Amino acid sequence: MTSTGPTSEAATQWMAVGNCNNHPPAVFFPSDGVGVEAAKKICETCPVAGPCLEYALDQRIDHGVWGGTSERQRRRILRARRKGEAVVTA
Ligand code: SF4
Repeated sequence: MTSTGPTSEAATQWMAVGNCNNHPPAVFFPSDGVGVEAAKKICETCPVAGPCLEYALDQRIDHGVWGGTSERQRRRILRARRKGEAVVTA
């Protein structure tokens, strides 16, 4: 997912090859669970899902589907990382 905000170019180069470049941005900011699943499906085959997820976690991005995760999943990951726990996102 493309984003705005202060960050280095190197940290966001992966955005240029994300699967979301072939879809309207609104797809990745769904308003319901069906939309979240549809967006996550697109992320499943994305070659840069890893960096995308780490970017969203690092930037504390609250909204949208990033790296194949929902907002709730990212909150869970961050919480678990703070506690030093492993998290399964699937
Ligand atoms: S993982 Fe999803 S949101 Fe991230 S770049 Fe790929 S398609 Fe876009």
